[in-house]
Parts: sequence; C-alpha cells; structure tokens
Amino acid sequence: MRTAVLVDPRYRDHDPGPHHPERPERIDAVEAMLHDWRGAPIERVRPRLASEGEILAVHAAPLLEAVRATEGKAHVAIDADTHTSARSYETALLAAGGVLELADLVARRDVQNGFAFVRPPGHHATRAQSMGFCLFNNAAAAAERLRAEHGLERIAIVDWDVHHGNGTEAIFYDDPGVLYVSLHQYPFYPGTGAATDLGRGAGTGFNVNVPFSAGVGDLGYALAFQEVIEPVLRQFAPQFVIVSAGFDCHHRDPLGGMEVTEEGFRAMTRSLLSVARDSCEGRLLAILEGGYDLDAIRGSSRAVLEELCRPDPPVEEMLGPAHLFEQLKGILAPHWRL
Ligand SMILES: [Zn+2]
Repeated sequence: MRTAVLVDPRYRDHDPGPHHPERPERIDAVEAMLHDWRGAPIERVRPRLASEGEILAVHAAPLLEAVRATEGKAHVAIDADTHTSARSYETALLAAGGVLELADLVARRDVQNGFAFVRPPGHHATRAQSMGFCLFNNAAAAAERLRAEHGLERIAIVDWDVHHGNGTEAIFYDDPGVLYVSLHQYPFYPGTGAATDLGRGAGTGFNVNVPFSAGVGDLGYALAFQEVIEPVLRQFAPQFVIVSAGFDCHHRDPLGGMEVTEEGFRAMTRSLLSVARDSCEGRLLAILEGGYDLDAIRGSSRAVLEELCRPDPPVEEMLGPAHLFEQLKGILAPHWRL
C-alpha cells in the first residue's frame, strides 16, 4: 500500500494579484508540511500539462480560448473574484494535468491512493464559465479521464470545500455515472447547493447536497457522513472515489464560517477510505480545492495524508458506531421505528 502526493513549485506561477486569498503561498504551506513529514514513506509525483482534448472533455471551446487568451498578459479579470497573470493558463493546464497524472496512477493501482496539491482550484468552473478562483475543473476532468481511459462507469466525487461546487454539479447534473456529493455552507457563495437539487433525467438522485448553516463543526460533518453520505456511497458502489478537498471549512479559514478541525478532516477521510476499500480496492484521489489559512492548510493536509497512509484497520475497528447502529436498527425493527 502506497500513497502518492503531487505538488510542484510551478503551481506558484498563477498569481491572481495582491491580497487575493487564493495565493501562491498556499503551495508553500503544503511544501512545508511535506518537508516536515515524519509519517510513512510517500511517493512524490510530478505533474504534466493537460492536453487540449482533456480540457475539452469537460469544457466548451470558448472557455478554453478565454483562458488561453490570458497567456502573457500581466492581469486579466475573468470576473470580480477570478483573476489571471501571465502564466495562469500554463499553471491551470499543469493543475488539470497533474490531477490526471495521479488519477492514472491510482486507477492502474501503481499507487493505492493520492493527494494532488494543485492550484488554481477547479470545482466552481462550469462547462462554459471559469469562476470563483477556478479556471479549469480539475475533478471533473479526472472523472472524465477515468471513464474514457480506464473504462470506469461509476465515479463518486465528494466535495467538502465550504463552498458548493456548482461547476462539478452542473457538468454531471444529468449523468448517473458520476455521483456528486457536496457538504457546504448555505446560503453562501456561489448561491447553489439546495438539498432539493437532485440531478436531472437519468441523473436524478445522483446529485446529493448537504447544505449546512454556518457554525457546523466536526460532529455535524461526521453525522452527515454516518447518516447520509456513507449509506448513499455504499449503495452507489463507486469504482473510484475523488475528493474535492477544500480546507476552507476549517475553523481558522478567513472566508468560511464553519468549525471543522483537523480531527474532522481525519474522520471524513476515514469514512471515504472505508467506502473505497469495500467498493473499489481503496482507489481514492484527493484534490486540493479552497482553503485560505496557511496553518489550516498545513495541519489539515497533514491529517488527511496521515489517514491515507494508514494501513487497513483490523476488522473489529472497522465496526464503528455506524455499523453497530445499522445492525441495531435491523434487530429492533420489529419493535421500534428508528
Ligand atoms: Zn471554497
């Protein structure tokens, strides 16, 4: 069992301008965490550039052209929040390509699981619109590649970034092959993410939103996994689990209003690993989305990585409260409605 990380100094080259929260130093925080790493050996993977075709698998041609047109320009404002610098186009291709590279390694079982620490993030980018600090949708590109190159038919994307991943939701909204699950602050940017948005047509039911009021912490997130997310994922039986791992639901984050700690990220990771172990031989890929406090990024990414590296727990340890409660509900069903 091996865990791989993908990060590269070139992810600093996208500069959205002074005082922007999605800043190059976020990559330094990850590099500092890896420099101090004392856990199990992890494999370091280098990114490649995504091809035009890989971007066009999830985006309309005018979006690719619009991002390409920013190349070499010191500053372009795509919208009020989303700004580019001279090398943003190349960096965004390297972010998507890095995620695809690591997705390939996990899909081929060259490594067990991995974490792609890339920027710019991706989950707000829709098929036709870069927005919300996001240029290309990295997680969506990975899901499409897993289908096209590896023949997978059921892919789960679980998004715990504090913001709803409107782009990922929209790209797969009528698609039963990609189950999108999001936990997010609501109402909040970008305004989407209602619990009643379930998907469309054949995709109905394959879009699950958990809209939280501000202030929810580890316990609320753990309950959502226990009561809703893990049961849904187990029924879906994904062949690959992608995590849109934003750390802006951390209590220190300057943009988010949630109270999640490092322990909360550990618990969510353990839950997803347990699903992945049971349904797809542990194949899981985490992708960095948001998260704007450097200490929170450092501590939370370390916590998630430590869980990814942990050897499979003994069976008795896996029979946690969720499993016990399911058993109890069955045993008590003739007598009590639970
Ligand atoms: Zn976010």
